[in-house]
Amino acid sequence: MPRDAYEVLGLARDADEQQIKKAFRRLARELHPDVNSEDPEAAEKFKEAAEAYEILSDPERRATYDRYGHEGLRSGGYRPSSEAFGSLGDLFNAFFGEGGVFGGEAFGGARPARGGDIAIAVEIGLAEVLAGSTVSVSYEAISRCERCHGNGAEPGTPIVACPRCSGAGRLEAVARTPFGQVLQTVVCDRCHGEGRVARQPCAGCSGAGLRRTPQVLEVRIPPGIDDGQRIRVAGRGNAAAGGGAPGDLYVQVHVRGDERFVRDGRDLVTVVDVPVTLAALGGEVEVQTLEGATTLKLAPGTQAGEELRARGAGLPELGRSRRGDLRVFVNVLIPRHLSGEQRELLERLHATLSADNHAHGGESVLLRLRRLLRHHAD
Ligand SMILES: [Zn+2]
Ligand SMILES: [Zn+2]
Repeated sequence: MPRDAYEVLGLARDADEQQIKKAFRRLARELHPDVNSEDPEAAEKFKEAAEAYEILSDPERRATYDRYGHEGLRSGGYRPSSEAFGSLGDLFNAFFGEGGVFGGEAFGGARPARGGDIAIAVEIGLAEVLAGSTVSVSYEAISRCERCHGNGAEPGTPIVACPRCSGAGRLEAVARTPFGQVLQTVVCDRCHGEGRVARQPCAGCSGAGLRRTPQVLEVRIPPGIDDGQRIRVAGRGNAAAGGGAPGDLYVQVHVRGDERFVRDGRDLVTVVDVPVTLAALGGEVEVQTLEGATTLKLAPGTQAGEELRARGAGLPELGRSRRGDLRVFVNVLIPRHLSGEQRELLERLHATLSADNHAHGGESVLLRLRRLLRHHAD
């Protein structure tokens, strides 16, 4: 047999409606799965509390219970509806609605809604990714009306108690749930929970207290940001009616393509043209970097497709100062046009070349090609 309903809720037998609500709400908070994941019996305890509340909150049911107890109710056909719920979450929702037991939507304590978020996009180049930047963004947001300072009243006219909710800011609605009728409290749609409205609405905002206005904001973009990442600027979204918290502004950052570099994580990749003679003799090549140029050493016998590296000339990672590298692929230029003299020189060189001149200890071109293709197949 279930425990005594009054005992479960910790109530005296003459407890009134308000005390019953309060006791059940307090217990529900204690037993909520979000707070009480450790207590394996929390679900059972909440079901017990829900049943006790279901009995005591209904005057007719309570009267039967007071005279005949649980047995009397059950023999009269009553079954606790908590038995019909699979999950504790569903059960909580049935009593407290989507706002939950902490949301304050049910049993009084209405909370005004938060303002909407706004999303905008900005475009930056690789130089800004390197150094970080501050961009000025312009957008429109719903904000407090300046004419009435957000109170919705034409300046100089009074603000009076809301006629729809009589100044309570809340409206009570009876919702049908599996437990029968549950009293739900909702924010008043006329005064948005304020309890007060303007007698003569502000001409600037039609009494809403809010109007769409242009915004200009400096947004700091940190170094190392990736294409497509979003920056959240808290509180710079739309203002809310009824004093709720404003929404946030989300700035999506697009990084422009750069014709000189390909970005590969924190590395930058580029190509340098090297005349075939220089590739054979070795020497120095100048390569462009994001900040200007740097000189890299070219070993004698450098092959087409070999990779040179300028350490630290890449990009930083978000939130870190260490930079990646600039990887430079060597593109060996074979002369397309030769003068008579050059042709003669090359012919003389060609006659002296043997297999030894081209021998190398590294992997063959075919092997490299295989590795490359395998890498791309992955
Ligand atoms: Zn106004
Ligand atoms: Zn109202």
